[in-house]
Amino acid sequence: MNIALIAHDKKKDDLVRFTIAYKQILEPHTLYATGTTGKRIIDETGLTIHRFQSGPLGGDQQIGAMIAENAMDAIIFFRDPLTAQPHEPDVTALIRLCDVYNVPLATNMGSGEILVHALRRGELDWREIVHGRNTET
Ligand code: PGA
Repeated sequence: MNIALIAHDKKKDDLVRFTIAYKQILEPHTLYATGTTGKRIIDETGLTIHRFQSGPLGGDQQIGAMIAENAMDAIIFFRDPLTAQPHEPDVTALIRLCDVYNVPLATNMGSGEILVHALRRGELDWREIVHGRNTET
């Protein structure tokens, strides 16, 4: 599975703790992240992550492009709903594309927990079936 990890600045500590807690579940998958989020997670967990641009510089749009190609299977995006974001249109566009393509999206710790446990139990394997990719990860 291709999984994207994103966190707004005030949620980065939470996402780092989340990835430490669920490292074993996430590790077998191909992980992507926006620039700063990815660097934090790599530094603090040692996970292998493909980093895109920082969110405000286009990283959310790069992840959106993968969704549009049906190349992203799940998104864990810890949003900060209390701080204005300069790239709010990009954030909205990313969420919209998840809805267009029925890509599972978790926007906070609570739904993130559900998503990783579903991943562990193989409940997202329908993504592979729908798109005919092989089911190794
Ligand atoms: P960042 O981007 O990981 O580069 O901070 C995340 C975002 O704000 O969309």
